[in-house]
Amino acid sequence: MQVENYVIKQARLINEQRVDILVENGIIQDIAEHIESSYETVNFYDDYVSAGWIDIHTHCFDKFEIYGDQPDLIGYPHGVCTVVDAGTAGSDTIDEFYQQALSAKTRVYSLLNISSPGIYAQDELADLNRLNKEAILKSCQKYPDFIVGLKARMSKSVLGDSGNQPLVFAKEMQKLVNLPIMVHIGTAPSVLEDVVDMLDKDDIITHIFNPKDNGIVKNRDLKACVFKAKEKGILLDVGHGTDSFSFEVAKIAFDKNVHVDIISSDIYFRNRLNGPVYNLVTTMNKLLYIGYMLEEVINAVTKNAAKALHFNNLGEIAIGKIADFTVFKMCSKDIKLMDSTHLEVKSHYYIQPTHTIVKNQLYQLEEEKS
Ligand SMILES: [Zn+2]
Repeated sequence: MQVENYVIKQARLINEQRVDILVENGIIQDIAEHIESSYETVNFYDDYVSAGWIDIHTHCFDKFEIYGDQPDLIGYPHGVCTVVDAGTAGSDTIDEFYQQALSAKTRVYSLLNISSPGIYAQDELADLNRLNKEAILKSCQKYPDFIVGLKARMSKSVLGDSGNQPLVFAKEMQKLVNLPIMVHIGTAPSVLEDVVDMLDKDDIITHIFNPKDNGIVKNRDLKACVFKAKEKGILLDVGHGTDSFSFEVAKIAFDKNVHVDIISSDIYFRNRLNGPVYNLVTTMNKLLYIGYMLEEVINAVTKNAAKALHFNNLGEIAIGKIADFTVFKMCSKDIKLMDSTHLEVKSHYYIQPTHTIVKNQLYQLEEEKS
């Protein structure tokens, strides 16, 4: 349903405040206890209303068989207003991805892979000839409103014998294009300690709760470099994916008061259909299970996600922001949740999105079967 000028009556916010939200031409114009207006009203009753959810690590470009999906299969039907493709496309393939993304009902952005073709194969950074400075500069100039950062996948299967060289290159490129950078971690090399040393404040590490030896845990305790990363202001992102989320690792971090800044899914068609990802909210529910507060989980897919990628008009219910909303209810019912190590837990409390408002369209969602 098209909605451009309307008032959400008595929206229930996550701090339990009730407010009227006036939207004009798709922009939040007023927020107050009571707003008189001739515009149509929308009422979500006891469901919560948050800013539209943002998933900063997805694969929603379907050119390559290895990782890929379509924005509208992972986005608005699951309460996600904005999906960011994390490096499926590089400078050779960004034109095609941009053209595909234009028709999506979900907002779509790209973190440009520093390897020219993108993830055409698992080892896109094994050949250093695929690091092309001029091509990256050209792509970033051509698509300033689409390319919102750079992506470097710094793990053994991706790098081959390239060592830390691609990350040195990525950091150099970052200075030139002045954009956020997301670094994927996994099996060494690169060694986690090196990655932390090479990154700066506001750079993003994704796959932070992966269960691998080169992850954040050793002998059931957090490695010192995790605290160093926090001190430096490096942003920690979940990036669940097929292999990168362990309840045990997340819980050890939680018990040491190391929380993620951002929750993302690393979803693509296989882990969407077969699990363990399914959708963004299932990952959010796993963090709720670990012990995160609801407000923290919502902030991790709204405010913090927007800030990390400089989405100045998204991520908050505030005057002047774009009127993207996710409406959800809290359910007290048993659900099973499985991590990447096939550990299955039972949770008794979970988030269920019920409506999405994005690009001036209101969607009523089907019940998820997660
Ligand atoms: Zn990924």
